[in-house]
Amino acid sequence: NLQDKLDRAFKVLKGQGSITEINVAETMKEIRKALLDADVNYKTAKTFTDEVKEKALGLNVLTAVSPGQLLTKVMNDELTALMGGEVTELDLKANPTIILIAGLNGAGKTTFTGKLANYLKSKGKKPLLVAGDVYRPAAVDQLQILGEQIGVPVYANTASKDPVAIALEGIAEGKKQQNNVIIIDTAGRLAIDEQMMDEIAAVKENTKPHEILFVVDAMTGQDAVNTAKAFNDRLDFTGVVLTKLDGDTRGGAALSIKSVVNKPIKFIGTGEKMEALDVFYPERMASRILGMGDVVSLVERAQEQFDEKEAAELQKKIRKNKFDFNDFYNQIQQIKKMGNMKDLMGMIPGVGKMMKNVEIEDDAFKNVEAIIQSMTKFERENPDSIQQSRRLRIAKGSGNKIEEVTKLIKQFEDMRKVMKQFSNPATAARMMKNMP
Ligand code: GDP
Ligand code: MG
Repeated sequence: NLQDKLDRAFKVLKGQGSITEINVAETMKEIRKALLDADVNYKTAKTFTDEVKEKALGLNVLTAVSPGQLLTKVMNDELTALMGGEVTELDLKANPTIILIAGLNGAGKTTFTGKLANYLKSKGKKPLLVAGDVYRPAAVDQLQILGEQIGVPVYANTASKDPVAIALEGIAEGKKQQNNVIIIDTAGRLAIDEQMMDEIAAVKENTKPHEILFVVDAMTGQDAVNTAKAFNDRLDFTGVVLTKLDGDTRGGAALSIKSVVNKPIKFIGTGEKMEALDVFYPERMASRILGMGDVVSLVERAQEQFDEKEAAELQKKIRKNKFDFNDFYNQIQQIKKMGNMKDLMGMIPGVGKMMKNVEIEDDAFKNVEAIIQSMTKFERENPDSIQQSRRLRIAKGSGNKIEEVTKLIKQFEDMRKVMKQFSNPATAARMMKNMP
C-alpha cells in the first residue's frame, strides 16, 4: 500500500544530512508512483512532485529531524495547499438558500441530500428536501424514507415528469412553510449524458441556486475526474462532495478533482448512515493520502524550537569549523525542549509500536550534559585542547570513567566532520529562505 511505498521511498533519504538533487529526484519518482497508485492523475502527480522537489532542495535538516520527515512535511503542506488549504463553508446567507445536487447515478446524491439536511438541521436550520428524480420512482420513496428518519419534510410530485416544475413547486412550498434551506435532489444517469445535462442546466436556470454541489463516488478513481470536468463545464458548480470515503478508500480523487476543476471540496461521505458526513478538511485529507502518521506534527514541533537566526549562526560556525561544545550543549537543550524522547520517537511511523516495550531513559542526555558541564569555558570553545590530563579531570568532575569522556570527544569530532561536509553558503542561504 501507499504507506509501505512511502516508507520505502524515504529509505533512500535516510542518513543524509541535507536534501540534495540526487536523493530528492530518486524519492520523487517513488512518490509519483505511489500517488498514481492512489488514483491521483498523472499530470497532478507530476506537477506536485516537481513543486515539492523545488521546495525541498537545499532545505537543511534540523536537529532530530530526518530528511524523510522534513520532506513529508513539505509534501503535506503542498498537498494541503493543492486541495484548497482552508475549509470552504457553504454559502447559507440567502433565505431561503437553494442548494442543487448533481451527479451520476449511484454517486450518492439522494443519500447526501438526506445527510446534508440532517447536518443543517443540527446547526439550527429548517430544511426542506425536493424529490427531483423523475426517472426512478424508487428514488422518491428513498428520499421520503430518509426525510422521515431525520425528521425533515420532503416535497414530491409523482404526477409530474418535469424536473424544473417540481423544483419550482418545491421552492414555493418551502417559502410557504418558512424553510430557510431548500435542497433539490436530481436524476443522474449511468454516464455523462446530454439529456441529463440539459435537464439539470434548466433546473439551474430557473431556480438560481446559491450552491450547486456535485456528488461523486471517490472509488471511481480517474472516472471521477472526467465526470467532474464534464459537470463543471456545463454547470459551473460551487463545490464537490466526495462520497464512499469510508474504509480504506484512497483519497487520491480529491487531489485530482480539485486540481482539474479548481472548485472546493466541501463534504465527504464516509458511510451509508445519515450521520456519516464530514466537512472536508484539506489537511486531514493530505495526511490520509500520505498516510504518514504523526510525522508532520513532529516536524512542526522541531521547527518551532529552531530559531532562524540561531540556525544561521550555527551554519557559519560549522563552515568555519568553529562548532564547539557550547553549541553542542545548546543543541541538546533544543532537542530536550521538544519533549520526552519516547514520545518523540513514538511519532515516527513504524517506530511507535517498536517502542512499546523499550525503556528509554527520559534523561538520555544526562551523562553527556554532565561531561560538558565539567569542561572549562576554554575547553568548550577549544575541543582540540582536551588532551589526556584534562580528560581525566573532566571524568572525575562529572562522575564518569575517562573512556566515557574520550568516547564523547571522538563522537563530537566525527559529528563536526560530517556537519562541515554538508555545509556550504548556498545551502545555508536557501535554508534561510525556506524556513517558515
Ligand atoms: P444516487 O443515485 O446518486 O442518488 O445515489 P444513492 O444516494 O442512492 O446511493 C447509492 C448507494 O451508495 C446507496 O446504496 C447508498 O447507501 C450508498 N452510499 C451513498 N453514500 C455513501 C457513502 O458515503 N459510503 C458508503 N459506503 N455508501 C454510500
Ligand atoms: Mg438518487
